[in-house]
Amino acid sequence: MAKCAGCDRNFIFDENCVETGDGDLCPECAAQYRAEAEEEICYQRQDNITEQQFWGYKNGDVYAVEINYAGAVTGVCGPIHRSEQRIGSLPDFDYSTEDADWVNENVVDFQLIEGKMI
Ligand SMILES: [Zn+2]
Repeated sequence: MAKCAGCDRNFIFDENCVETGDGDLCPECAAQYRAEAEEEICYQRQDNITEQQFWGYKNGDVYAVEINYAGAVTGVCGPIHRSEQRIGSLPDFDYSTEDADWVNENVVDFQLIEGKMI
């Protein structure tokens, strides 16, 4: 038997339990602990860039864009010259947060060409 660090009850440790820095958690406390940890991760990712992509504008120009976890554009660079339209170049562009508003407002005028998770 183990004693739960969350609710002080005795329990049998199994795959539903969690070991934390503060002690072991029973299945019920472990479930709550996992839910809170997941919420925390989602929250932290809100502004984090998760993807860089090339987007084609309606006039034929190509822009490099950074997308955050929520799917919003947070940075834009472009138009990008054809010779630099390589997936490997995506991390090297100088992304502007000011132009991101313009892209978010005109997102229907763009289409995804290709991208990668970062
Ligand atoms: Zn507990």
